[in-house]
Amino acid sequence: MTDLCVPLIEETAEGMAGRIQNLPPNIDMVEIRADYLKVSGESLRGDIAGLIRNCALPVIVTNRPEREGGCWTGPENDRLDLLRTAATEGADYIDIELDSVGELGEISGSCGRIVSYHNFDETPDDLMSIHQKARRAGADVVKIAVQARSIKDTGAVFTLLEKHAQETPTIALSMGEEGIATRVLAGKFGGFLTFTSLKRGKESARGQIPCDDMAEMYGFHEINPSTEVYGVVANPVAHSMSPAIHNAAFRKLGMDAVYLPFRVDNPGEFLAIYRPRDLRGLSVTIPHKQTMLGLMDEVDELSERIGAVNTVDIRDGRLYGSNTDVAAAVNALEAAAREAELTPLSELCVLLVGAGGASRALAYGLVGRVGEIVIANRTVQRAKNLAAELGVHHCGLDDMGDYSPDIIINATSVGMHPDTQISPVPSSMLQSGMVVFDAVYNPIKTRLLEQAEEAGCIIASGFEWFVSQAAAQFETWTDRDAPRDVMARVVRERLSGS
Ligand code: NAP
Repeated sequence: MTDLCVPLIEETAEGMAGRIQNLPPNIDMVEIRADYLKVSGESLRGDIAGLIRNCALPVIVTNRPEREGGCWTGPENDRLDLLRTAATEGADYIDIELDSVGELGEISGSCGRIVSYHNFDETPDDLMSIHQKARRAGADVVKIAVQARSIKDTGAVFTLLEKHAQETPTIALSMGEEGIATRVLAGKFGGFLTFTSLKRGKESARGQIPCDDMAEMYGFHEINPSTEVYGVVANPVAHSMSPAIHNAAFRKLGMDAVYLPFRVDNPGEFLAIYRPRDLRGLSVTIPHKQTMLGLMDEVDELSERIGAVNTVDIRDGRLYGSNTDVAAAVNALEAAAREAELTPLSELCVLLVGAGGASRALAYGLVGRVGEIVIANRTVQRAKNLAAELGVHHCGLDDMGDYSPDIIINATSVGMHPDTQISPVPSSMLQSGMVVFDAVYNPIKTRLLEQAEEAGCIIASGFEWFVSQAAAQFETWTDRDAPRDVMARVVRERLSGS
């Protein structure tokens, strides 16, 4: 089993002891970062001995010098002496850098040696030879932590684990946001351990994930060589709620699957690395919906027409692209129209504000279903282009008042967190009995929806759309009913925390 190890980076021994006494139950191993402690000499040796004695979990002691990204600035001899003391005092492992292992000499018999290599700038081409050097230097465990400059770099780390983790216990990690998959999937590739932080702000390296997210959201301890891999391909991806939603759904149904945030520059490179490694499904979002379409083996007719996929289903290695945005948006709108008793749809006029990706999905979903569509946009040329594709009307934002719509849709980002007090539609346009739908889901009730409710309109939030498109993706991948209540609850919880 791959362990979840938390580095302790407190500046005092009391602080570290406090952390050790209150470790969350999901932690398997502790790394005492001696270089963070603001003491030296005999007191430091005494502190380390006490911490090792009082820790019920296996302990690694690390005393990282500045040149390898640590905080130790004292003499090299003292640094190595401290590691020898830690070994004598019962540490399960000491971490010694590859360039210092020769000077360390013998250590106490039962203590293992983690021989480590760090590169905070890049992922060098010769990871295999670095691994070999560490092994030859007497490593019980080899640790290689390298900076991922792009998602492509994570491929080298997986290859290293695939080749060597069985014969030599190996920790191999890509640092940075692009490297998150190497941390979460360590168990899939047989890594010795992965590092996690106690909470946000307590990371000892870039890209470390808090232990609660690691254990509960990603289900780290259940990940094994046959776990299926899903994820969202985007850039940026840090604030995506999709990992929380889909992992909660997988957990609820007890599936052996994990969903990751992939920060990707080049979807083609991404697929080349992950497709052979049990990749089963993807959500695709800004800016890759168009590019991804071109990489599919098969695309459904609607996605082909829109020119964008938001869902990739991978079966027997073949990539099937589809678009769950459209049906989910149309369903949400139809439900609101029914509630407002605005039927039939085919006689209604829709004012669609915005001409970006969301508007495009909505326009393609509604054309032919409703009587009239007017696309209004800040950049009038974009509205004109989209309207021309579909044979509908367009105008600038200043001319929206010329129309008398039954349904108004906001498909711009206006009103989205954090600028929640603005609305893209003048309140004078909001009439009782109208349907007003906002694509924005953060906040759930936007300024536009508040004003529409005050005016007696039936409102529909982007929240429903967001949950429905995610549920449809889940059903596409798994052929099972999505646990919508769980998914909706996760989105609500995340939104109320923002
Ligand atoms: P996008 O492709 O970047 O398009 C953004 C749109 O907003 C463009 O029409 C843009 O006008 C307009 N806009 C941006 N700032 C504006 C401003 N200050 N004043 C007036 N118009 C402005 O983004 P998108 O993918 O269409 O997303 C739009 C919104 O829909 C976002 O809030 C997104 O979160 C939401 N959305 C929700 C869901 C869901 O499931 N609920 C799904 C997709 C999208 P210009 O063309 O003039 O720049």
